Amino acid sequence: MVPIIGITGTLKEDVEAAAERPLGRFVRTDLDYVDGVAGAGGTPVVLPPWGDEKAAAALVGCLDGLVLSGGSDLDPGYYGEEPDPELGPTIPERDAFEMALVGLALRRGIPIFGICRGLQVLNVALGGTLYQDLPSQWEGDVLKHRQVTPKWQPSHEVEVAKGTYIAEVMGREMVKVNSYHHQGIKDLAEGLVVTARSVDGVIEAVEARDLSERWLLAVQWHAEAMRGAGPQQESLFEAHVSAAEHHALRRAAA
Ligand code: MN
Repeated sequence: MVPIIGITGTLKEDVEAAAERPLGRFVRTDLDYVDGVAGAGGTPVVLPPWGDEKAAAALVGCLDGLVLSGGSDLDPGYYGEEPDPELGPTIPERDAFEMALVGLALRRGIPIFGICRGLQVLNVALGGTLYQDLPSQWEGDVLKHRQVTPKWQPSHEVEVAKGTYIAEVMGREMVKVNSYHHQGIKDLAEGLVVTARSVDGVIEAVEARDLSERWLLAVQWHAEAMRGAGPQQESLFEAHVSAAEHHALRRAAA
């Protein structure tokens, strides 16, 4: 059984082309997510960030797994805050669609793998909050979490907590990862546990407190872009696809 894995897409304006010929807005996703899912044996489906709760519900009914991809900042209104001066651009359609989608996926017990923004969206959907800007809001020293080097290049280490599911999946305690975020988890949502941090204390990975009850795994780094760096990052996609397969089989039997 090949599980169908939804990957959240984003909206992009073709700013450069627009000057000469206005091409409008595009639904986009990085091919690395698609390759990550397909390479792990799933069938990837890119979801346009468009539509209301009803549309999201119809989509969720067709999915066995969900990958929450990276992207722009989440509107802080979703965790009860006004915008900080350092908040980056937000996309209202994407925020609304993803928050509806995640809520529905959680209710249906669909395995969710969050990446970068995806980790943040998952935390907020479960009731947590975010630092709107780590460099200006983090108390104490903070690493450079917004590297300027290519995505496949690791930039800082994370320490994976012993005895966690992600430690079992990745098979090591220290992992060098890339870093493309200026936000991060502030208050951790109930139902999640921290499974990796960078040396400054920033949360770099979380998972469900009880994975047998709901399969949730999220990383702050772009695992999809580091699949060439070793089997650890690919193993995250494999673990998700395998969980989605189990979910699909359970659903078929029900
Ligand atoms: Mn980082």
